[in-house]
Amino acid sequence: MAEKMTLEEREAALQEIAGRVRQCPLCPLAAGRTHAVPGAGRTDADIMFIGEAPGFHEDQQGLPFVGQSGKYLDDLLEMIGLSRKDVFITNVVKCRPPNNRDPLPDEIDICVNTYLKQQVEIIRPKIIATLGRYSMALFFSKDARITKIHGQPLRANNRIYYPLFHPAAVLRNPNLRPAMEADFKRMLTLIEEAKQMQDSSGPDEPPPPPKQLSLF
Ligand code: URA
Repeated sequence: MAEKMTLEEREAALQEIAGRVRQCPLCPLAAGRTHAVPGAGRTDADIMFIGEAPGFHEDQQGLPFVGQSGKYLDDLLEMIGLSRKDVFITNVVKCRPPNNRDPLPDEIDICVNTYLKQQVEIIRPKIIATLGRYSMALFFSKDARITKIHGQPLRANNRIYYPLFHPAAVLRNPNLRPAMEADFKRMLTLIEEAKQMQDSSGPDEPPPPPKQLSLF
């Protein structure tokens, strides 16, 4: 259905989701938030980045990746000639867990099924770049280890799923920087590849069945 929507209709649909996220009462994280963080960026972005959960600064501002991790993400984007205006950035869960604890399985299920899946359907990114293991676990096998599979694209559903380290993990462990930067640089080639995948399959062809994808 989203294939038939105009850009304006898609923008309105994303705004409608964002409005529901901001008022969301569906899990216990709602009680502790200052602001929910629906996500931000281009409605028709080629690349959608999915992080884990808002932290302190994101909760204060209602925007994704605005703390130290966000600055590093900005640097990585700039390194490949992009900025956050060119991409869409969101998280697995839209509200900050208390003391930045890991999101719980129920919180993830509710938030992904109510919001993230719809955001993906509307944005229709050519590349879904996962930042960290919670986001990776939505698309890759439960046994996947980020240290093993980062930078290895998975082609399915007429798009590319691309697992990346979480920027905060790289800031904590600078040894990961060269790998993170190499993985980012590869994304430009992947965009070209993904465009061709979508062009050659035609707009009305149904996507192939998912292979290793767990939730989507
Ligand atoms: N870490 C995340 O995973 N998401 C944010 O939005 C900020 C930090």
